[in-house]
Amino acid sequence: MRVLKPRRAAPADAVRSTRAEVNLAALRHNLRVVLRHAGKARVWPVLKADGYGHGAPAVARTLERAGAEGFCVALLEEAIELRDAGIRAPILVMGGYDGGAYEEIATRDVVPVIYDAAQIEGLARAARAMGRPAVAHLKVDTGMARLGVRMRDLESLAAELAAHPEVRVTGLMTHLACADADPSSHDFTAEQVARFEEATARLRRAGVPCDGIVRHAANSAALLRGEAVFDAVRPGIALFGVSPIASAGGELRAAMRVRSEIVDLRTIDEGDSVGYGALFRAKRSTRVATIPMGYADGLSRQLSNRGHVLVRGQRAPIVGAVSMDMSMIDVTDVAGAALGDEVVVLGGQEGPLGKGAITADEVAAHAGTIAWEVLTSISRRVPRFYREP
Ligand SMILES: *Cc1c(COP(=O)(O)O)cnc(C)c1O
Repeated sequence: MRVLKPRRAAPADAVRSTRAEVNLAALRHNLRVVLRHAGKARVWPVLKADGYGHGAPAVARTLERAGAEGFCVALLEEAIELRDAGIRAPILVMGGYDGGAYEEIATRDVVPVIYDAAQIEGLARAARAMGRPAVAHLKVDTGMARLGVRMRDLESLAAELAAHPEVRVTGLMTHLACADADPSSHDFTAEQVARFEEATARLRRAGVPCDGIVRHAANSAALLRGEAVFDAVRPGIALFGVSPIASAGGELRAAMRVRSEIVDLRTIDEGDSVGYGALFRAKRSTRVATIPMGYADGLSRQLSNRGHVLVRGQRAPIVGAVSMDMSMIDVTDVAGAALGDEVVVLGGQEGPLGKGAITADEVAAHAGTIAWEVLTSISRRVPRFYREP
C-alpha cells in the first residue's frame, strides 16, 4: 500500500499518531456498487461536510476519475472548495441559503437549488449582470418540511419563473424523510413519490418546461432499496461504505479507518479509579493504556465506559471518561499490549491475537447517534492519509 501525504494537514498535524486513513480503492468500489444499483440513473455523490469527514477534495478527485458525473454539496463554500481543488464536474449546491451570493454562484459555475421567489429574483439579477442565463434545480417539499417549495405554492412559483426567463430550471428534486427507516414507514416514501409526481405534472401545466429536466429524490437508502430512483440519485453515506439498510451492508466497504497508538501504559490496583470523575473503578488489578484521541478529535464522550477499540487484533473496552485529547482503555486481557501498539477506534485491524472491526454503526449505537454523525465528527485535528493499494 502506498500512503499519500495528507494534502491539507499541516506538518505538525501529521506528526501525531492519531490519524484517519481513507482507502480510495474502497471509495471506487462503493461507487461501482452504487452505479450498479442506479441502473440508467445518473449518480451524483453527495460530498457535504468535507465528504462525510473523508476530505471532500480527495474524495471528489477519486470519484470524478472513476466516472462520477457530478457532485452535490450543502453549502456554496463546499462547492468553491471543490472548484478550487480543480473539480470540473457539475456541482449542485443543495442548501439554497447562500446569503444571496448569486454572482459567486454564477461565476463559480455551480448549480444552486431554488424554492422561493427571492432566490429566483436574485439569480435572475446575477444572470442579467453576467449576460447569460442561470440554471437551477427546483426543490419541492413533499413531506420533509425542511426546505423546498410547498405543494400549495407550486403555481405561484411557476409564475415567478415565467416572469424571469433568465432562470432556467434544469432539475427537479425532493428529499425523502423515511427512506432509511424500517420498512413499516415505507408508505411515507410512496406518498412522497406520489406528491413529487403530482408536483411535476402541476409545474408542467403551469408552464415550467419539464421535458429533459433531471428529476432526483433518492439518497443512499432509497437507492439501495430501489425506491424513488428517477433520472439521477444522490447517495452519500453508501459511498463511504456504510449501508443505511441491512440488506446491502455486505456489498460496501468502509472507506475510513481511524487509528491511534498506546502512548502510556500502567497497572492500577483493584479499587483504583480512571479519569475525570473517577467514572471507572478497577475490580481487579488492571492494565490501563492511554491513547491520544479524545472527544475533540471526534471520539464521542458518550463512549465513556461503553465503547471498544482494537489492539493487536482484539477488542478492548474504553474505561473512564473520554477526555478532550485522550482516552483510556483496559488492555488487561490483551496479551502483549505494549507502548506504541496501534489502537483502532474505527475500522478493521488484524493482529497477533485475531482480527476484528469497529463499524460506524457500532460506535453510533454506543454513542446514541447515527453513522453519519460518527463519520462527520472526526475533526480536522485528525490528519487524513489517503491510501492507494
Ligand atoms: C445528505 C443528503 C443526501 C445523501 O444522504 P445519504 O443518506 O447520506 O445518502 C441526499 N440528498 C440530500 C438533500 C441530502 O441532504
